[in-house]
Amino acid sequence: MITITNLHKQFASLEVLKGISMTVEKGKVVVIIGPSGSGKTTLLRCLNALEIPTTGSVQIGEVKLDFSQKVDRSSIPRLRKQTGMVFQSYNLFPHMTALENVMEGPVTVKKENKEQAKTKAAALLAKVGLGDKLDHYPAQLSGGQQQRVGIARALAMDPQVMLFDEPTSALDPELVGEVLKVMKELAMEGMTMVVVTHEMGFAREVADEVIFMDQGVIVEHDSPQKLFNQPREDRTRQFLQHLK
Ligand code: ATP
Repeated sequence: MITITNLHKQFASLEVLKGISMTVEKGKVVVIIGPSGSGKTTLLRCLNALEIPTTGSVQIGEVKLDFSQKVDRSSIPRLRKQTGMVFQSYNLFPHMTALENVMEGPVTVKKENKEQAKTKAAALLAKVGLGDKLDHYPAQLSGGQQQRVGIARALAMDPQVMLFDEPTSALDPELVGEVLKVMKELAMEGMTMVVVTHEMGFAREVADEVIFMDQGVIVEHDSPQKLFNQPREDRTRQFLQHLK
């Protein structure tokens, strides 16, 4: 479903990704962990070309972009359409209700019929447990509720894969669980997911594979059982020890 080959990303003289290669099979959940500044967010943003990689290629489903060659600009929206992204800060439109936030993409980008988009948006909001909050504005919702609107909004575009960038980092601790629960349900339904998170409990429980990144490289890529219980690399071990 996702194939990344020898991806590099440089910001001025800073090389943030130093040759990342990985695959994610359809229906799998891959969790990316690693210290601050290791390049996790940049990798996720390169996946849907929110950041343009310096070299290397990204393939999601049928859409492949090889950044080592001149990229056809029109293929970037095609790649982006394959993905739904959930950010740390929910980025909802403050002047729109939950329902309008979720309808916006399908209506304006996908040119879906308004009534159909509304029905779908209401169903998605019900799915994330917000069936009674359709007409609430973001300011009237808790952080956890706003983030669940963010998930519904991403799902409304019918993505092939969902990308989560530290979706619970901005939340008060008591609100983290409700967002992780929605993510876990999505995983169980077979959604292909790449998740950057510091929630090791989620990684242990929900991930099919865990990637440990440090300084722009993948240090270790394994099942959660192996990576957490018997890490092969010293750097992984040190990172995990720091968390305790
Ligand atoms: P964290 O866990 O703190 O979010 P991270 O592993 O996600 O960290 P990134 O956000 O990918 O790390 O950042 C990796 C490095 O790239 C950092 O040194 C950061 O300052 C730098 N960086 C990220 N985005 C940019 C940018 N747009 N311009 C310049 N440098 C950037």
